[in-house]
Amino acid sequence: MTTRETPAPGGRRGVPVAPDPLPIAVVDNHTHLDIARDGEAAPDVAHAIAAATAVGVDRLVQIGCDLPGARFTVEMVERHPAMLGGVALHPNEVPRLAETGGLQDAYDEIERLAAHPRVRVIGETGLDYYRTGPDGVGAQQESFRWHIDLAKRTGKALQIHDRDAHDDVLGILAQEGAPEKTVLHCFSGDLAMARECAERGFYLSFAGTVTFKNARGLRDALSVTPLERVLVETDAPYLTPAPWRGATNAPYLVPLTVRAMAGVLGVAVPTLCQAVSDTSEAVYGPW
Ligand SMILES: [Zn+2]
Repeated sequence: MTTRETPAPGGRRGVPVAPDPLPIAVVDNHTHLDIARDGEAAPDVAHAIAAATAVGVDRLVQIGCDLPGARFTVEMVERHPAMLGGVALHPNEVPRLAETGGLQDAYDEIERLAAHPRVRVIGETGLDYYRTGPDGVGAQQESFRWHIDLAKRTGKALQIHDRDAHDDVLGILAQEGAPEKTVLHCFSGDLAMARECAERGFYLSFAGTVTFKNARGLRDALSVTPLERVLVETDAPYLTPAPWRGATNAPYLVPLTVRAMAGVLGVAVPTLCQAVSDTSEAVYGPW
């Protein structure tokens, strides 16, 4: 934890100060404005968008990864032109639904919500061997295959959650055939995996983790990722970039991650901003 004690102007202790605006607007490719951290109120969506826009993060992709989150996402994308949506059942949610017998109904509803024209992402889906034990692996893998198929049937982008499951994620994508637009959200692999993903035509979305002091391996991975495969995200309210690690994350903090990434890639900040913006449109379509 390196949360600064500096108060934001007019704000409460521990709330990160807004960074300097980016020279060219970018997209936060993955955020959860439906999720409140323990003991905190849920973010005000209009306020979160306004704060992000003020620092050059003018559009975002809201990800709903359980049924309430997916319903919220569809409601919000109808209300906010800056926002696109993604819907799915998170790999940690699936074993629970399978156990209570609610999985098929949940799939049916996700598929209905995914048909919305401003829902352009199926995700986040994938595998999480960190939070879910061996008992849940079968359900997770089956669900991952279902979401891959849904992305292909609907022609939408796939966003993948991969925690401690690199080999199986890549293996299942190879078996099933990856959707045309496949994004590894919060990329956490090493240099070799980054090369392999880029070769397979996947997109790598980097979060605040790339700014963490101990994340040299991740920065190495970013350094070999072709510029046209790079995306950026918050995964808010989690993974707040340095120097605010441990505080609550929000889309207006993306500039901190972008500037750190430009340094790793050895490109000028405006160059990276333009690339991220263009790539986001290429993956999700214009909005
Ligand atoms: Zn997420």
